[in-house]
Amino acid sequence: MYKQILVPVDLNDKGFSDKAVEQAVWHAKHGNAEVHLLTVLPGIHMSMVATYFPKDAAQKMKQDVKSQLRQFASQYIPEEIVYKVHVAEGKPYTTILDHAEKLGADLIVMPSHKRSKIDKVVLGSVASKVVQNSPINVMVIKPQG
Ligand code: ADP
Repeated sequence: MYKQILVPVDLNDKGFSDKAVEQAVWHAKHGNAEVHLLTVLPGIHMSMVATYFPKDAAQKMKQDVKSQLRQFASQYIPEEIVYKVHVAEGKPYTTILDHAEKLGADLIVMPSHKRSKIDKVVLGSVASKVVQNSPINVMVIKPQG
């Protein structure tokens, strides 16, 4: 049974992330696991914000993203499930893997693609790098699954 389940969520293109959360919740219910939602803000955006806007703008942006993620979580995760939301900066796939390690995650659940790119390749770019490099199991959610 999995105990710490990580679901990376791109808030700019949520696509079928709700399906990934649904699977994570199912496993959490049956294994008494904790669910973690993670959104990664690509570092370059944050450094642009830090350069061109007032000092606290980057921090504020991070907080705004966190509250959007909380809202997403409350929409799809039932109350009885223990969950946390995380916002981090960096390269999406390495940050997802770093967080998985930091949280002691034993499963990553993620969509195969963002909605916009479904027909073009077998796996999206972030999804394929996570699958290739993750030491723990990755459950890849397909749009029709
Ligand atoms: P595509 O190449 O079709 O855009 P991706 O591989 O980027 O597809 O996206 C598939 C999944 O990867 C997303 O649904 C999400 O789970 C994860 N992902 C991608 N970018 C991010 C991000 N910035 N933060 C968190 N998760 C992400």
